[in-house]
Amino acid sequence: MSDCLFCKLINGDIPSDTVYEDDAVYAFKDIHPKAPVHVLVIPKLHVATLTDCDDPALLGVLMNRVRTIADDLLHLTAGYRVIINVREGGGQEVFHLHAHILGGKRLPF
Ligand code: 5GP
Ligand code: ZN
Repeated sequence: MSDCLFCKLINGDIPSDTVYEDDAVYAFKDIHPKAPVHVLVIPKLHVATLTDCDDPALLGVLMNRVRTIADDLLHLTAGYRVIINVREGGGQEVFHLHAHILGGKRLPF
């Protein structure tokens, strides 16, 4: 989607700090980190929100990559939090589906 911020990051039209990339997903550092480690993992296919995604394969790959990035790449051995904000009421600001990985310190509830 040409007017989507995260599609522009995937395409390299806007620079971002890449953490991981493969055919299905792109992962990068959040520009306003809310924890010592704050990474966003997004599908390369434009999907606006979780509500719009009735695709178990896409969601399975996304969550699998979240796990491998957090555990195997970032080595968040003490644990981490995964958040998907869904639509305005859930605090979603960028309408391209993304999972937040937060870690690097003990997170408050
Ligand atoms: P949301 O509130 O939609 O779940 O989260 C959107 C996230 O995207 C926010 O944590 C925000 O800091 C991050 N973000 C917004 N614009 C940019 C950007 O241009 N680059 C990067 N790396 N992160 C961004
Ligand atoms: Zn997009």
